[in-house]
Amino acid sequence: MAQLMSGKIVSAQVRENLKKETEALIESTGIYPGLAVILVGHDPASQVYVRNKQLACEELGFHAFEYKLSENTTQEQLLDLIRVLNKDAKVHGILVQLPLPDHLDEQSVLYAIAPEKDVDAFHPMNVGKIMIGSYDVLPCTPAGVMELLDAAGVEIAGKNCVVVGRSNIVGKPMAMLLLQRSGTVTICHSRTKNLAEVCAAADILVVAIGKPKFITADMVKEGAVVVDVGINRLENKKLCGDVDFENVEPKASYITPVPGGVGPMTITMLMKNTLRAAKLQNGIKD
Ligand code: NDP
Repeated sequence: MAQLMSGKIVSAQVRENLKKETEALIESTGIYPGLAVILVGHDPASQVYVRNKQLACEELGFHAFEYKLSENTTQEQLLDLIRVLNKDAKVHGILVQLPLPDHLDEQSVLYAIAPEKDVDAFHPMNVGKIMIGSYDVLPCTPAGVMELLDAAGVEIAGKNCVVVGRSNIVGKPMAMLLLQRSGTVTICHSRTKNLAEVCAAADILVVAIGKPKFITADMVKEGAVVVDVGINRLENKKLCGDVDFENVEPKASYITPVPGGVGPMTITMLMKNTLRAAKLQNGIKD
């Protein structure tokens, strides 16, 4: 039986440390880490995510600045708001909740955020810094996966690491972080041939594709570490990952559940980035 890598437990531990660090920062400098979250439109899932980010800010003692903009907001109006927030010293992190309505150009919106306030680490400057291993903030989901692996004591150096999915927000940075820790990394995608064989050679398998129960037991090596980033809603409304948990779990040494695995880590990493950004913008180095 595999050991569970619980995002709930690890996330609570990380938050406890972040809370202490925040209290110390406020006490010594009077600086409250500030996170601005911009939501355009009424996407129900996005509303839930934004609410959870606000609650996390409250829990840790951050200042949360919420901007709920109408569905009809123009590109220029959104860019104007970002320009104002870029200059606001109380705001250390700016997050634009995705997806944006179709009439808005996601790329130019994300590029307008000042790199030092880009707590999602989506700006090309921050993406580039990750490539060269000299970064201030890491994209939240891959960073959360690394925290889970570290908390479980999983050795990465020299291991065969297979990442399934090559998106800019999960797959690619995930592969880069594993490489930086000296994993031997393979990135798979929809055109990969013999996917089952490639996955079955993995000591550490990270899956981020968005297809329920896609990774079956025959694709997993005995004793592998399996991280399931996928979040899929089934017809019965239940959440499930990209991994067939029930059948893969007996073969794995460590595995993340869905829900309760990678998911809870993502917002916690956003908070970690915001605290770090607040410190860096005030000349405080860890
Ligand atoms: P994208 O849709 O952007 O990317 C999916 C990737 O999976 C693509 O690279 C695609 O390949 C690959 N893929 C699709 N089908 C297959 C297949 N049959 N075989 C191999 N590869 C395939 O998704 P994201 O990276 O944004 O998200 C992936 C999943 O992770 C989703 O379920 C999402 O909800 C979840 N997620 C969870 C988060 C969390 O906090 N836990 C945060 C972010 C995402 P190709 O490039 O060739 O099309």
